[in-house]
Amino acid sequence: MNDKLNIITIDDMYIIVIFLVICLSVTLRYLLVLRSYLKSIMLAADSVSKGDFSVEIKKDMTGDLGKLVHNFNYMVKKIKHNIIELEDNNVKLQSILKSTSNGIIAVDNRENVMLMNQSAKEILRYGKDETEDKVLDFIVRDKYMLSVMKNLISKRESAMQAIEDDGGHFLNIRVDPIIIEDKADTAIGTIINIEDITERKRLEMVRSDFVANVTHELKTPLTSISGFVETLKGYDDIKPEARNRFLEIIEIETNRLRNLIDDILTLSFIESNENKNNTNLKDINLWEVYEEVCEIIASLAEKKNIKISNYFEKKDIVIPSNRDYIKQMFLNLIENAVKYTPEDGSIFVSVVERKNSIEIRVKDTGIGIPMQDIPRIFERFYRVEKARSRKIGGTGLGLAIVKHIVLSLNGTIRVESEINKGSEFIIEVPRLQR
Ligand code: ADP
Repeated sequence: MNDKLNIITIDDMYIIVIFLVICLSVTLRYLLVLRSYLKSIMLAADSVSKGDFSVEIKKDMTGDLGKLVHNFNYMVKKIKHNIIELEDNNVKLQSILKSTSNGIIAVDNRENVMLMNQSAKEILRYGKDETEDKVLDFIVRDKYMLSVMKNLISKRESAMQAIEDDGGHFLNIRVDPIIIEDKADTAIGTIINIEDITERKRLEMVRSDFVANVTHELKTPLTSISGFVETLKGYDDIKPEARNRFLEIIEIETNRLRNLIDDILTLSFIESNENKNNTNLKDINLWEVYEEVCEIIASLAEKKNIKISNYFEKKDIVIPSNRDYIKQMFLNLIENAVKYTPEDGSIFVSVVERKNSIEIRVKDTGIGIPMQDIPRIFERFYRVEKARSRKIGGTGLGLAIVKHIVLSLNGTIRVESEINKGSEFIIEVPRLQR
C-alpha cells in the first residue's frame, strides 16, 4: 500500500513539477509581457509629462491592461486636442487684440496687468515688451490718465470718460469688469479700452468751424440786403441815383449769396462722394472742357485786357471723372487767375502727359500769394485779403473745391508764387494704365 502510494507520488510529483514548470513559464511570459506594457506606458507617460502629446501605445491587448492602454491613448489624444484648441484660441485672441486699433489692457483686482495689446503700448508710449504682472501705475505714466482709470475701475461697473492726454491726444477711456461666466457677481478684474478720438474730434472741430463760418458769411450779405431794403421802404424821398445804387448793392449781395450757396452745395456734394467707388466715370477730354471754360471767362478777361493762352501737348488727353468736376476745376483756377491779375496781364494754361501722370498748370502774372499764406489757401473760407476777395465776389471756397476735386482724382495740387510776379497752380493726376 505504501509502495503504491510512493509510485503514485513520484508520478504525481512529475506531473506536478511539469505543471509547475508550465505555470512558471506562463507566469514568467505573462510577467515579461506585463513588464513590456508597463515600460511602454511609463515611456509614453514620460513623453506626455515632457509635453509630447504625439505618443500612442501601440500594444494590442485584451482585458484590464488593454483597457488601461486604450484609456491612456484616449486621454493623451483628448489632452492633445484640448491643447491644440487652447493654442488656437490663444492665437485667435492675440490676433484679435493685435488687430484692434483700440488700446486694450486687462488688469486683475489688484490692478496688475494680465494682458496688454500693441495699440495700448503705442497710445501709452510704453516701449518695453514685458507688461504682465506689472502694476498699472508702472505702465501708465500720464498721471491724469492714471487717476481717471483708477477712478473708473473703483466704480466696479462699466463706465467711460473722455480725456485729453499730455501729448494733446483726445482719448475715450472705457472700463468693463471681467465677469466669469455663471458668476455674474464676481469680477476677476477689469478691461480698460482706450480709443483714440483725436481725428474724430478734429473733424468735429472742422465741421463746427465750417458751420460758424457759413453762418457768418451768410449773415454779412443778408444784413446788408435787409439794411438797404429797410432804407428803401422807410424813405420815400430817396433820389433815383441813390435808389439805383441801393438796388445795385442788393443785387450784388444777392449774387454773392447765390454764389456762396452754390459753392457750399458743390463742396458738400464732392465731399459726400469722395469715399464712394464711382464706377460710372467717363473719359473727360481736357481740351474740350478748357475751351468751354474759356468761353465763360472770356468777357471777364476782356474787361481787364487779360490774355489767356495755352499749350496742350495733345488735344485728346482724357481723365476718367465727372465732367462737372473737371469744368469746375478749370473754372475756379482760371477765374481766380483773372480775378487776382491786374489789367493787361496774362494767363497761361498747359496740359502735358508725363510718364505716370497728367500735369495741368494754370499760371498768371497776378498779385501773387504771400509765402506764409500758401499752406492755408486751400482751407475753406481762407482768403489772403478778405476785403479784396469779397469785393471781387469771392466766396473763399473756390480752392477748397479744387482741392477736393483733385483728391477725387487721386491727384495732388501745389502752388508756386511770387508777390507781384504771379502764381502757378500745378495739378498732377495719375495716368490710367490701360
Ligand atoms: P476766393 O473766392 O476768395 O477767391 P479761393 O478759395 O478761390 O477763394 O481762394 C482763396 C484765396 O487764395 C483767395 O482769397 C486769394 O487770396 C488767394 N488766391 C487764389 N488764387 C489766387 C491767384 N491766382 N493769385 C493770387 N491769389 C490767389
